Parts: sequence; structure tokens; C-alpha cells
Amino acid sequence: MSARRALTGWGRTSPSVATVVPATDDDAIRRVITGADRRGVVARGLGRSYGDAAQNAGGVVLDVTGRDRVLRVDVESAEVEVEAGASLDQLMRLLLPLGLFVPVTPGTRQVTVGGALAADVHGKNHHVDGSFGQHVSSIDLMVADGSVKRLTPQDALFWATVGGMGLTGVILRATVQMTRVESAFCIVDTERCHDLEDLLARMTEGDHRYTYSVAWIDCLAGGSALGRSVLTRGWSARRDQLPSRRRDRATEFRPHQLAVAPPVFPSGLLNRATVTAFNEAWYRKAPRERRGEVQSIASFFHLLVAGAQWNRIYGPRGFLQYQLVVPFGAEETLRRCLELLSESRQASFLAVLKRFGAADDGHLSFPTPGWTLALDLPVGAAVLGGLLERLDALVLGAGGRLYLAKDSRLPASAIAQMYPRLDEWRAIRADADPHGVFTSDLARRLDL
Ligand SMILES: Cc1cc2nc3c(=O)[nH]c(=O)nc-3n(C[C@H](O)[C@H](O)[C@H](O)COP(=O)(O)OP(=O)(O)OC[C@H]3O[C@@H](n4cnc5c(N)ncnc54)[C@H](O)[C@@H]3O)c2cc1C
Repeated sequence: MSARRALTGWGRTSPSVATVVPATDDDAIRRVITGADRRGVVARGLGRSYGDAAQNAGGVVLDVTGRDRVLRVDVESAEVEVEAGASLDQLMRLLLPLGLFVPVTPGTRQVTVGGALAADVHGKNHHVDGSFGQHVSSIDLMVADGSVKRLTPQDALFWATVGGMGLTGVILRATVQMTRVESAFCIVDTERCHDLEDLLARMTEGDHRYTYSVAWIDCLAGGSALGRSVLTRGWSARRDQLPSRRRDRATEFRPHQLAVAPPVFPSGLLNRATVTAFNEAWYRKAPRERRGEVQSIASFFHLLVAGAQWNRIYGPRGFLQYQLVVPFGAEETLRRCLELLSESRQASFLAVLKRFGAADDGHLSFPTPGWTLALDLPVGAAVLGGLLERLDALVLGAGGRLYLAKDSRLPASAIAQMYPRLDEWRAIRADADPHGVFTSDLARRLDL
């Protein structure tokens, strides 16, 4: 049943009203696409993009989450075929007991395969394994005339879709190459780094020895403590690396039930004082150095999001996530970004740094070799707009870019510079969708 509803992204800013239509089967999707008016259609997964990518004011939003069947599992070749509405959480629950893990997981498992492809998501293993699209051997895409194209990495439309933010069509199904694992645990090394130089040096020198690497930065620390951080790196655990009591149930995956935050959280709860206290405690809680700790997949990959709908803690005004990447060699820009943040006294309690490896062929795919920094920032402070514009200028000046799946406020003028293959992408999209059936609030805002 379709219904008019106000939708937001995970940051809960900029709501817009659309007709939300459940995608029940291919024919129903085809009817919606071919019957679309000029406000167009966009697919929506679990709504975990932060901004307006899965919104379409005055148009149709196709809710694909009901199409979540796992169609084929080939344990021998570690290949699975799934409907695009299946979530990574679902795949982990079903496939870990078979010794198969998703090749790339973002900081939450609550994303669909379609959303993971449309944003070409990355995880803590980008420096060795690349992004999600690199592990997909085919997709079925319903394009604007209602036909279904089976695309492989040999097709330009495949790479326009991977990272294409739902603007080339609706992904119906995908064949994903899973990673073989012996357990649902990781072996984790944790180190405290006393400043940014220390952190960058350790990551540069040692990341190649680990499959997964991520650093949490205390971005309220300034001066000589600028960039003080906790670096955690690890690998998937072999069965024989687990304590003997765990070996029999090595691949069991039973994450804790998530606690749900109340619908209305008082604004102002996250202020500089509370965030400073949180950051101090988080930094001190981490061991100065600990090697070889066994951690479950859920706590290693998704600990900071252990509460369902934790986005509510930012209060009714919501928050935004600012994720940038700057090339290796632009470490000074990274330092300047952290200085600006610390000087602005903006309270970001989630600041995460990773290293990206080689880019894939996605025209609008975000990852490109370099440092990527993600910051959660509550909306509301008067200084926020100016701060973000200064950060934009720094990122652009260093030849970097922002992540579309996180963005909610960039001006259209910045995009072509950030994504130099935009015109190539536009040409492929115009060919597949000459009348612009697929559109979204993000597409209109950025003139994509
Ligand atoms: C706590 C948290 C941590 C995160 N960490 C990371 C991270 O580490 N790395 C990272 O890369 N991202 C991260 N993200 C972002 C998230 O992975 C992406 O935004 C992802 O796209 C969300 O998937 P979704 O199913 O919720 O899609 P939605 O948010 O619903 O949609 C995202 C985009 O995908 C398109 N789309 C969805 N389904 C389809 C389909 N079937 N066909 C065509 N287009 C489709 C939509 O139109 C939209 O443009 C994080 C998000 C959260 C909330």
C-alpha cells in the first residue's frame, strides 16, 4: 500500500514528503517506473544514508526492503545471489554459520545490498579489499523503460550504478562474492596514539599487516594532543586462535539485541562538556597497547552503533556526518581540518580515520587512495555552516572529496571538482534514463 510520508536520512535533517511505494515484485516496480511523473522515482533501502539520497520530495520513493530473499548460496565458490533489499545483518546471520562473511561491512550492518552498491560502501578493509562493488560479479538493474539489464563489471552502466546513488535504475538482485572465514571473531590489536603524527606513522607503517584498520580520534583535543586517538586493527580469527570453549561454536553469530533510544531525546544533551567527558573516558578506557584480543564481529565492527536508532540522541534537530578523503601527501590538510574542528569547539564524539587503498571503476564512487575522516556533528550551532565551508575549501584545495552517502549540504558547484568523472557518468546515465525518471533530493540539490 502506497502512502505519503515525510522521510529523512539517518541524520534526521531536511525531511521531505514523498509517496512511498513498497516494491513487491518486478512487475510492481516496472509499473511505478514507467508510470512516473516528472517528480520521478528513487529506491530506498534501510535509510542509513545520512542526508537526502533516499528521499524524493513530491515524487515516489520505492521501498525495496521487502525484497530480501537470498536466492542462491554456493558454499563451494563462496558466491551468493540475493535480492537487493536483503540487509548485511541478514547475510551475516545466515552465512556466518556456513563460514562466509560479507566482503565489506560499513559501520552498521543495517544496510541493504542495494544501498551498499548504490553508495559503493567501504569498510575498515578498504586498504586491502577495496569497496563493496569490487566483490559483486553481476547485478540485475531495472532501467527507466522498465527493462531489466544483467550487468557485469565489463559494462559501463555497472560502474555508473556502483556509487551512482540510485540514479541509474533500481537494483533488483546482485551476485556477491563472500569472504571465507573460520569464525565469527576477530583478533584485534589496540594502541593509543598520543597525537596525529604518531597515528599517521603507525597506520602508514603497519596497516598492510592487518585486514581491518580504523582509528577513533578525540577531536576535541588540541595543541600538542591534537589527533590523540585509539587505533584498532585486526584480522578474522582462525578457529585454532579461539579459546577452546569457543571453538565448537566458532561461527555462531548472535549479536545482542539492540536497545532502542526513546523517540524524543532532549536537545543539548550532547554538548561540549558531555562530549569532552565521553572522549576522555573513551581514550582512557582503551589500553595503552593490547595485542591479540579476541572480539566478536559485532563488537569489532559495529560497537559504536550498538543502540538501535541511536541517531535520536542528537535531539530533534538531528546531525550531519561530514566524511572527507584527501590524497596521501595531504597530511597537512588533515591536520588543519582537525585544528579547525578543535578550535571551533564543535562537539563531535564520533571522529574516525581510515586509509583508503586503490579506487575502483565507479564514476561516483567515493574511495580514492588517501586518508578518510568521518565526523558526526550535531546541527544547530551558529558556527557550524562557516566551519563546514572552511573544511570544504581545504578538502577541495587538497584534491579531495566528500562522500555523497553522508552529505546533506554541499552546493552543486563543488561536485564536478570533487568527482572529475561526473560528465562521463552523466552521459551513461542520460543514455540509460533519457527523461530523468530516477531522481532524488540529493540529485536535485547537487544537479547530478
Ligand atoms: C552508523 C552508520 C555507519 C556507517 N558507516 C559507513 C562506513 O563505514 N562506510 C560506508 O561506506 N558507509 C557507511 N555508512 C553509510 C551507509 O553504508 C550507506 O549510506 C548505505 O548506502 C546505506 O544503505 P541503505 O540500505 O540504508 O540505503 P539508503 O540510505 O536507503 O539509500 C542509499 C542510496 O542507495 C540507493 N538505493 C538503495 N537501494 C537501492 C536499490 N535497490 N537500487 C538502487 N538504488 C538503491 C538510494 O536511492 C540512495 O541513493 C554508515 C551509515 C551509518 C548509519
